Amino acid sequence: MQRHVDALSDGTFDLLILGGGITGAGVALDAATRGLRVALIDKGDFASGTSSASSKLIHGGLRYLEHGDFALVHEAMEERRRLLHNAPHLVRPLRLVIPFCAGDRVPAWKWRLGLTLYDALAGRDNLRRSQPLKLTQLHREFPGLQPAGLHGGASFSDAQMDDSRLCIEVLQTAATHGAVLANYVEAVAFEPGRVRAVDNVGGGELTIRARQVLNATGPWVDAVCRLAGDTQGPRLQPTKGVHILIRDTGLHSGFVLLHPDDGRVLFVLPWLGKTLIGTTDTLAVAGPDALGVQPEEIVYLLEAYNHYFTPPAGMSDVMGSFAGLRPLIRARPGEPSSLSREFRLFESPSGLLSIAGGKFTTYRRMAEVATDVVVKRLGMHRRCRTHDLPLDGAPAEPWLTFAARTTAELQEHGLDEAAASHLVNRYGRRAPDVAGYLDHAPHLAQRVVPDELDLNVEFVYQRKHEMAVRDDDSLLRRTRLGLFRTDATLRRPQLSVFPRSA
Ligand SMILES: Cc1cc2nc3c(=O)[nH]c(=O)nc-3n(C[C@H](O)[C@H](O)[C@H](O)COP(=O)(O)OP(=O)(O)OC[C@H]3O[C@@H](n4cnc5c(N)ncnc54)[C@H](O)[C@@H]3O)c2cc1C
Repeated sequence: MQRHVDALSDGTFDLLILGGGITGAGVALDAATRGLRVALIDKGDFASGTSSASSKLIHGGLRYLEHGDFALVHEAMEERRRLLHNAPHLVRPLRLVIPFCAGDRVPAWKWRLGLTLYDALAGRDNLRRSQPLKLTQLHREFPGLQPAGLHGGASFSDAQMDDSRLCIEVLQTAATHGAVLANYVEAVAFEPGRVRAVDNVGGGELTIRARQVLNATGPWVDAVCRLAGDTQGPRLQPTKGVHILIRDTGLHSGFVLLHPDDGRVLFVLPWLGKTLIGTTDTLAVAGPDALGVQPEEIVYLLEAYNHYFTPPAGMSDVMGSFAGLRPLIRARPGEPSSLSREFRLFESPSGLLSIAGGKFTTYRRMAEVATDVVVKRLGMHRRCRTHDLPLDGAPAEPWLTFAARTTAELQEHGLDEAAASHLVNRYGRRAPDVAGYLDHAPHLAQRVVPDELDLNVEFVYQRKHEMAVRDDDSLLRRTRLGLFRTDATLRRPQLSVFPRSA
């Protein structure tokens, strides 16, 4: 995947997508595999918006059952199965535990009912039936779990991912099917059939011509509509979600919990060798370009963790935090709530098509629907091909066989087993290409920081093949080191061993 800004001005594209989060990435892949000439730009790095700030779950969404969103849950479970098959290196099953406590907003019988429904909605796509958990079993498995009134629980299965890597992998796959992609290119003006853009790296201006333009800018959708002269909005009512990361607390399962203050559902999840806690859900007051994490948001999340687990975690245990905006559709008059994770497509008078809402899990389905509309508007007849399309890093052989064989092979490049396995789990079929750089530069086999698995060689590979332009592109989205290593060590000499030309 190369950044060729000049190629964006080359002729007329069938489809230009604004926004390289998971929504835009999904459409780029769908449209490119149908044979459309596709371009995609993002004003920052790919996945630098909401698509790197999710809870990392590929899930049906047990809590959406409370709102009666049965069709959405069923569809999301279908997509969960597809992703486990199409991206086995990035999406993995995850067991989740729900502790039942006396006096909770959601009583045990309601959880049980919800899980029965969740199993039924999954049907053939179920990963594992939900299981009741006795108090003794909970104590044995999770000695630190000690909320007041705990009397039992249940477990069920969903899946987990690394969101920004999955987004970049979808884009990488689109590029192999001919899509022209560039990060750091910002749409600044819209006229029917053309978009004026600025190269935020090189500094120049360019015009990109396209028969159809799709606005897939997530929380920026209303702002881009206004660029196109559409003042009918706002169509979105974004809500803000904050997560924090603390050291690994030894949890081998994720937890679905109710906040002791307001009864909201939140998660405590094992992720990348850390414990991820989130999320808050508040109406967004700041725009997507001015997001920050407030101390009271961290306190709110720590309160939930400490209500359930011992030893408690304090401010000094927080290794990192991040915030994202859910690009939720604003309820129309007479509609029940804006909480829905449904997505919507709408057209501006100028012909700009916009897509917003939805969830990460259902990006492929959203892309299918959006591309169907685009293809029809262009007078084409091309069917969706992404249902069973493996992403670029997905191996042809069964995942476990591939992972064991390749982990052993990579050790021939001088990597220890942990490092080899780390590359296989992050890059899948492309792991040998990453390790191949070590044949000429064995010193790059070093870890970036001693207690994390990320290797120096990854930064070289990411600059050459994953369009990492700035240090943060590698630190925050292609690895996640910058999320929990905010200390200066990351910005010092280790990274300067990666000259751009390496
Ligand atoms: C806290 C939180 C937790 C979540 N957890 C989950 C979860 O566990 N599972 C799940 O399925 N879903 C989850 N979601 C939902 C999911 O993350 C989002 O639905 C999804 O990431 C939205 O992607 P997007 O591409 O629409 O938007 P974004 O990822 O925000 O992408 C929009 C892109 O547009 C670019 N852009 C903006 N303006 C311009 C311009 N003028 N020119 C060019 N580019 C531009 C931005 O730079 C950005 O990269 C969560 C959301 C939040 C906020």
